[in-house]
Amino acid sequence: MRRRGILFVISGPSGVGKGTIREALLKRMDDLKVSISATTRPPRPGEVDGKDYFFLNQEQFKKMIEEDNFLEWAKVYQNLYGTPRDFVLENLEKGQDVLLEIDIQGAMQVKNKMPEGVFIFIYPPDIATLSKRLCGRGKDSIESIKHRLAACEEELKHAKYYDYVVVNDDLDVAVKKTEAIIIAERCRIKYIDLEVM
Ligand code: ADP
Ligand code: 5GP
Repeated sequence: MRRRGILFVISGPSGVGKGTIREALLKRMDDLKVSISATTRPPRPGEVDGKDYFFLNQEQFKKMIEEDNFLEWAKVYQNLYGTPRDFVLENLEKGQDVLLEIDIQGAMQVKNKMPEGVFIFIYPPDIATLSKRLCGRGKDSIESIKHRLAACEEELKHAKYYDYVVVNDDLDVAVKKTEAIIIAERCRIKYIDLEVM
């Protein structure tokens, strides 16, 4: 009998490298289903609707909330972001492992609903590096970067609620550590059906 999928949640402050680690992981592991979030944030240059996000207006997003279509949703830096519920639950049911890359408020909601998930906090080497990365990414206004950095100190306090912490200093090391966590979690005895081995 196929086991239920494992829910992996990658989270951490903005600019810490969550998206970069997710993309690198997907190149190395083709057996993870990645959830595409919905957001009211306007697309950045190059972002594609349905691939990077489902870009919704306020009305469409609120309708999804009312219809209880989100596993979690949160207001993050002035915009709304949410994880469509059905994609996650249907894939887990089919035995597919699912990866979410979401903010800390959202991760805490998911932890309440699905404590059996695996929660990985991506931690910055230090705040100066985080600031440099946010500026270097060149995709947010100075105001938005200030907002993100101001939130960071409080956000880092939540690392203690996660199962794992990965410091994203050297990218390659951080990706390998995250991959190792996923591989090790899959070997847990609770997911193995010894009778069919
Ligand atoms: P997040 O998704 O957490 O907001 P990103 O993945 O967009 O963060 O990364 C923010 C910026 O930092 C990007 O420009 C990315 O290329 C860069 N970056 C990510 N990880 C590292 C790293 N380990 N070393 C140097 N730069 C990095
Ligand atoms: P960005 O605007 O830079 O793409 O994302 C801003 C923040 O929103 C990041 O911390 C990202 O992880 C988070 N985020 C993206 N999708 C979701 C989601 O579905 N739910 C929540 N709670 N946060 C999300």
